Amino acid sequence: MMSDDISCTYIFSMNHIFGPVNSRRLGRSLGVDLFQDKICTLNCIYCEIGPTVLLTCDRAEYAPIQKIKEEIDAYCLDQDRVEELDFITVTASGEPTLHVDFGQILAHLKKTVAKPIAVLTNGTTLISDQVRQEISQADVVIPSLDSALPKGFRKIDRPAACVELDQVIKGLISFSRSYTGKIWLEILFAQGINDTAQEVEALRQVVKKIDLDRIQLNTVARPPLESFARPLNKQRMTAIAQQFQEDTPSCPVDLLAFQASQDDEPEDPKKFFFNLDRAMDKKAFTVKLIEMLQRRPCTAADINRTFHLGGAEKVEFLLNALVQDGRIQKRVHEDRVYYQ
Ligand code: SF4
Repeated sequence: MMSDDISCTYIFSMNHIFGPVNSRRLGRSLGVDLFQDKICTLNCIYCEIGPTVLLTCDRAEYAPIQKIKEEIDAYCLDQDRVEELDFITVTASGEPTLHVDFGQILAHLKKTVAKPIAVLTNGTTLISDQVRQEISQADVVIPSLDSALPKGFRKIDRPAACVELDQVIKGLISFSRSYTGKIWLEILFAQGINDTAQEVEALRQVVKKIDLDRIQLNTVARPPLESFARPLNKQRMTAIAQQFQEDTPSCPVDLLAFQASQDDEPEDPKKFFFNLDRAMDKKAFTVKLIEMLQRRPCTAADINRTFHLGGAEKVEFLLNALVQDGRIQKRVHEDRVYYQ
């Protein structure tokens, strides 16, 4: 589950550890990615990672736990680096709770890193007692639920045959009643797919039954798996947010994204971190850049903010060379050029 609001600030990468990234939701967050291939219970139309390679509900050791633990330990050797973190975010190129050692990995993090832990999950496995017990070790759980209607759920999230929407909802409700940490529910809307009045109403009815600490509304902000997945504009997202806020006055409703228009304020560059302070040679830069783009598509401006390369135009020059030799691809989404 990679649907976070992580900006492309990027410093460190091993196979399973990445970041720290600057996240609007979690501050300075170190990512722990449990898989290399995309293994998921869903194949969402808006997924930024690509098509699901293994669509399954089966838990397995999809990556060696020992290697994940060793990478965590290696990162933690430098305590100054750990001190600067606000959060550890456990995620995956897919659904992290499918890793059969998910609970052990959380326990290892709890023992090794004195920082709060967040888990990004698509919520489909919370019907399992075992998963609910394991994930309860986290301080913040960020599940998603994009539709409360079977047809809409199938259209936007394209679940494996083993996933049943009523069980997903039951799992979410049940988890929220027993969990003592924070739950921030993310709902992603795609134009013409799950943004009808009927869809929104069904989601509102379900959300009222879940004990939440935040509701976070998102849309298709980055290049999606399917080009027909389109974002909602600010007006529609705001109207939906107001409806949720009326239902749950004590639970904040955040707008994570909306379709940008000419009138929207540009992003404030000061909100990004500038921490890549060591000089890199061209080869090292290329490796880091490609690792970064494997995790999510970025604009030239994103990359410039990360690497301090003296302006988006200079970055485009470097990126075009990589596009030409076939190492990365260029893609336009909502009038913005992304590299992936
Ligand atoms: S839950 Fe959806 S968005 Fe998240 S990794 Fe799976 S397919 Fe991608």
